[in-house]
Amino acid sequence: MTERAECVLCPNPSPMTLDGTNTWLLAEPGSEDVVVVDPGPLDESHLQDVLRRVTDSGRRVALTLLTHGHDDHAESARRFAELTGAPVRGFGRGHDDLRAGETITVGGLEVLAVETPGHTSDSFSFVLPADNTLLTGDTVLGRGTTVVAWPDGSLEAYLTSLERIEALTRAGEVTSLLPGHGPFVADAAATVTFYLQHRAERLEQVREAVSRGAQTAYAVVEQAYADVPRSVWPAAELSVQAQLEYLRTHP
Ligand SMILES: [Zn+2]
Repeated sequence: MTERAECVLCPNPSPMTLDGTNTWLLAEPGSEDVVVVDPGPLDESHLQDVLRRVTDSGRRVALTLLTHGHDDHAESARRFAELTGAPVRGFGRGHDDLRAGETITVGGLEVLAVETPGHTSDSFSFVLPADNTLLTGDTVLGRGTTVVAWPDGSLEAYLTSLERIEALTRAGEVTSLLPGHGPFVADAAATVTFYLQHRAERLEQVREAVSRGAQTAYAVVEQAYADVPRSVWPAAELSVQAQLEYLRTHP
């Protein structure tokens, strides 16, 4: 995908996970040390695929990072640590906590941890400065848009995180995205701009639905999310709750 990143796709496709979870393998060219981001759900054959990809090239897993604690990214973290002996780092939930702005160096590879809460309160993204790319987990996806998983997620935090990513694209530090689901994003700046516009449009639709008398999150979904498949309405309902909370605090 980039000089330092390759993807092993987990076979867990669904309306929420798109083609499945992207497990990312990061390494400095020529280094034996690999950083694995999001080993995924507890799927032993996927974990073995990931391990084989690392060891077949004479390398080893030196560190595992988690973008957030949702099962489709992190459920296998403990099992993967058993298999590899490598530490697992994430934010919160009993992990060796990442610090915002921390630079992690493994086998000559530099990874910068950026806090991007919103989808969940524990969401982090990771910059690979040498490749000008950002691993976004579920904060920005390769296709479509993501869910603000209320009440753990928050729209206010999410918008701040998107602006943080936008600033990285403006500065030229990030030009592409490696998402937790869906394909490689070649134009990070355009995608983040689209995400911010999409959030503003949805917020306006939610505001209108409420002013037309929608009383519940479900009623708002029926009006504002008629364009999305019903299979993702439960997730849309969470995003609507997050937007209603935002509208309460930003009248
Ligand atoms: Zn996910």
